[in-house]
Order: sequence, then C-alpha cells, then structure tokens
Amino acid sequence: MKLRFFGGAQEIGRSAIMLEGSTRIMMDYGIGINKKIEYPVSMPDIDAVILSHAHLDHSGAVPLLFNEMSVPVFGTLPTVSISEILIKDSIKIAARKGWAERIHNRELNSFLRHFVGCTYLEKRRVGDYDLTMYDAGHICGSAISMIECLDKGSKKRVVYTGDMKLLPQELHNGAEVVDGDVLIIESTYADRTHPDRETVKKDFITKIREVIENGGTALVPSFAVGRAQEIMAMLERNGLSDITWLDGMAKEITKIMLDSYGFVDNIEVLRKASESVSWISNKTDREVALRKPSIIVTTAGMLNGGPVLYYIERLRKNSHLFLTGYQVEGTNGRALMGEDRITINGRPRDLKTQFSYYDFSAHAGADELHDYIRRSGAHTVVCVHGSKENARHLAEYATAQGCRAFAPGVGESIDV
Ligand SMILES: [Zn+2]
Ligand SMILES: [Zn+2]
Repeated sequence: MKLRFFGGAQEIGRSAIMLEGSTRIMMDYGIGINKKIEYPVSMPDIDAVILSHAHLDHSGAVPLLFNEMSVPVFGTLPTVSISEILIKDSIKIAARKGWAERIHNRELNSFLRHFVGCTYLEKRRVGDYDLTMYDAGHICGSAISMIECLDKGSKKRVVYTGDMKLLPQELHNGAEVVDGDVLIIESTYADRTHPDRETVKKDFITKIREVIENGGTALVPSFAVGRAQEIMAMLERNGLSDITWLDGMAKEITKIMLDSYGFVDNIEVLRKASESVSWISNKTDREVALRKPSIIVTTAGMLNGGPVLYYIERLRKNSHLFLTGYQVEGTNGRALMGEDRITINGRPRDLKTQFSYYDFSAHAGADELHDYIRRSGAHTVVCVHGSKENARHLAEYATAQGCRAFAPGVGESIDV
C-alpha cells in the first residue's frame, strides 16, 4: 500500500492524502487561503473520500472532485453541515476579492448529495476496507479515522488524526487514542507545548472583569467554528454570559452545534450559554451592545473582515481587544501583534484600545503529540499538517521512539 501526498505535507493548508491499495481513499481534500486560493496539486482517480472535519483546509476542495468523478464522501453529520456553510462563505469571499474560484454552487451541491453521514465508533465499509471514526477533540464533528485494510492476506490499521486536541477544551473532552500500525499525525505545534489552559483561562476572565468594571467593551474576535463556542462556554461557567453579545457567522455554527448530539461532549453548557447571551441580528443591536459595558464575541478571529471591524472602529477608550486564536501571517491580527496597526477598507488604522493574546488552541501541543505517538502503538509514523521544520521535528521524535518515521513533502509517496 502507498500513501501519496497532494497537499498539506510540510505545509498547513490544502490537506490531501491518498491511501492507495485495492481501494483508493482520499483523506481530506482542502484548500489553502494565502492571498489566493490554493488547491491540492492534482486530482487522481479515487474510490472514496474521508473527511476529517469541516475546516476549509480539509474540506474546501472536495466539491471540485465532482467535476471528474462521482464518489462517496464519508464524514460525521456536523462536518457536512459546517463545511457547507464554510464553503459557501469561501465562494463569496473569493468573488469579493476577485480571486479565481473553481468551486460554484453546482459542485457544492454534488458534494452534499454524495455525503455519507457517520457517527463515532460506527464501522462503515469503504470499498475493500473498513472505516471507523473516533472523536478528535478538535472541533464539533472532528474525527480520527481508522481504516482497516486487508491487502494480500495481511491486515493493516491506518490511523489518520486530521486536526486533533488530546487535552480537554470547554466543550470537548479530548481525542481518543486509536491503536494502529500506521499513524498519520498532524504536526502544527510540534515545536511547542501550549501554556497551561487553566492559567490562560483565569487570566482571560480576570482581564474581562477588569474591562467591564472600568466601563469598557471586551471585544473578543473568535473563529466562527469552535473558538466562539468555547469562549461562550467559558463565559457561561464564569457567570458572564448574560452581559455577552454574539455576532457574525458564529451564530449559525452555534445552532448547528446545538443540534449535534453526540459530537459536543458538554453540549448543556453551550445550550445554557446560548440561552443567556444576546444574539445580534441588526445594526440597532450592534449600537446597543456598544453603549453599555459588555462582552462581544464575533468573527473574524483574525480581524480580516466580518462584524469585528465595525466594532473596532467604534470602541470607547477603556475597551480592550482579546485575540483568542493563532494569527496567520498576512492577516490584520498578525499586523496588530507586530506593529499595533490594522487595515480597514484599504486604509491603515491605529488601534485606540489595548489588546492582549490568549492561547486557546484547538490543536495538540508538542507534549500531546508525543503522548499520542507513544500510546498509539504505531510502527510507522507519518507527520503532516505542519511546517517543514515541525513535521521533521515530530518525525525525529517518532524515530527516537523506535518508529519508522516520515515527514513527506507535497508530491511524494511512501510505501506502508
Ligand atoms: Zn482544523
Ligand atoms: Zn487543519
């Protein structure tokens, strides 16, 4: 059997890994967004797609496949609902920016028609192989796939983590460690361990209270999928959700998550939070939200668009901006962290308020990745979804543990 890498190898974005045996399975088929849309380097003939989760770097290019072929796409139910929203949004963004976009509603609809909804721990037949999905602890519906292959009389279990988080978050209890022979693992943060989450949370809540007591607005830009709901749950647990407003695409995603029984471990906290926060639906709501001391959770998490820019321009002096996620190179959020400046409608602006950064990552840190490799029992470890340095770094760790380890690049293939 072979693994072939069409994207997301020694890089983050456009994840696309093919397992090639008697059945050919594409694990994820995503896009990269980096001043333009990047697609996987080619589109080989396949028998099925397995989708680890809804984020566009894993799901964004799946619709394209349906111009050439007609194959089933396996994933969890929330993955299809959330990826539909994200892909529609990416089509809109591409149109607004004037980027060449190869995906339109026709391809998206074909993708939706071919989706096969799975639950965790349920065994599915995919060609000659068996597929079981396990909770990856990353976002709602994220799955670690275990593919049992019987090829030429020998049985092999291939495990693909997708993006994962081993330690618990507010709404997710953390990834399951799945035994396998071959482990394909993400390496986003192979170079660092995240700071203790409880400490970060405590600092975050303390600062929020301080801003409210000073009569300011606590503006919390958050990714629509996962981070916004994590923040809502955190605020709920600290008795702060009744002074919280929710705006942007996070609202739609929250509704999907509330319907996703079995895919959000602590769904009751999210339900309570969603009942006590105020949902913003128009301009008047936005004005009211800014008038009194309050917390506003909204998109975009990297300040690159969305309602957050409306609020930033109108914040009073004693307000504060809380960055809660990784800020990618080239985004407003990154510019702010570097030089206190952002660009709104093409014009550079100085931020009038202070800001701070909190590491609430939904990806495993180095300690969690190491733990996963040790506990999975795999003899072959393939490190993907990370910079070249980080993928190599993790492969070195796996080698030191006695595994056969790889950090392949795009276009390469490995015999497993
Ligand atoms: Zn992800
Ligand atoms: Zn990813």
